[in-house]
Amino acid sequence: MERNLYREQILSFKPYVPGKSIDDAKAEYGLSRMEKLASNENPLGPSPKAVEEMKRELERVNLYPDPEASALKLKLADKLGVEPDAIVVGNGGEQILQLIAQTFINPGDEAVMADATFDMYASSVSFLGGIPVRIPLQKMKHDIVGFAKAVTDRAKLMYICNPNNPTGNIVTKAEIDRLICQIPEDIILVFDEAYYDFAKADPDYPNSLDLLAKRPNTVILRTFSKIAGIAGVRIGYAVTSVGHARQMSKIKPTFNVNRLALAAATGAAEDGGHIRRTVELNDASMRMMEAFFEKHKLEYVRSYANFVFVDLGMDSRMVFEELMKRGVIVRPGFNWGFVDWIRVSTGTLEQTQFFLDKLKELIVRESRN
Ligand SMILES: *Cc1c(COP(=O)(O)O)cnc(C)c1O
Repeated sequence: MERNLYREQILSFKPYVPGKSIDDAKAEYGLSRMEKLASNENPLGPSPKAVEEMKRELERVNLYPDPEASALKLKLADKLGVEPDAIVVGNGGEQILQLIAQTFINPGDEAVMADATFDMYASSVSFLGGIPVRIPLQKMKHDIVGFAKAVTDRAKLMYICNPNNPTGNIVTKAEIDRLICQIPEDIILVFDEAYYDFAKADPDYPNSLDLLAKRPNTVILRTFSKIAGIAGVRIGYAVTSVGHARQMSKIKPTFNVNRLALAAATGAAEDGGHIRRTVELNDASMRMMEAFFEKHKLEYVRSYANFVFVDLGMDSRMVFEELMKRGVIVRPGFNWGFVDWIRVSTGTLEQTQFFLDKLKELIVRESRN
């Protein structure tokens, strides 16, 4: 018999399924207009300050980037009120998730997470021989009681996706307060706050930095991909206790974040105007979608992020295809076991209206059948 040369976890590894790219979709469907509302990207475009800083940096790409990301960490530390050494900068939030698993998971260790949630928690944990423990959503929300009950001696990590992708709802401050009383202190509680800026104004949204100050076994993930509109250059970060940050930094690839990404994030960190405009557009676009869903009696989950999860009562594989034919890319819910649901990102008002027009065509067509 032939020897298997691969690591054990390679054969069973389930790669992340990204949203379809605009160019691929246009070519496949022979369309000139294609609106992508599938990856929660920023419809306003990148932060202008990020672009400015990247332009400045272009002439310096002969030099390796700062492996410590010192300038950015100083800026973020000041903004967040933490030590610069409590921050780890990564090649996107995706790399932060990998580093979290690599720092804490031994084979056989368990990681508690929701089902459905962001797929990269399970994949990064199982790739290292860890075991994802998936707790089904309760009324579409993280089942915090179920999370606490699922903790065994092997539990190391617990992931709270807040707001949750794909459902868009939050775990409230009161729920987090209850949870931390019910779990051991030595569980690493990971708050994935990729959509932080969209949710932060809500009084029920927990302040995870306050929690970190009291509970050092906490890791907070944030990213510039969504709010700052720089998903294409890849930069995100973790805030945790200095001790954990040291270990994570020790094992990260040396030059993990390139010069352009560091420059972009430094600019974006100062671009309060772009954040405000992004949040305002998101609110307006979200209200348009909600009004349409209400009018057509479609069940949806109230969102605290820049996407919404909606039950169309039609197979999401069909909806995905039919919308694509009409020039809109969305995320079909069957990926997460929600066959009749889709996740759709907010766009510009024009893009959102385009999506709603196309969706209406499908609803009308379906009601005739
Ligand atoms: C987008 C996203 C991330 C990180 O994305 P990056 O582009 O890798 O920074 C992390 N978690 C969730 C839930 C996300 O939706």
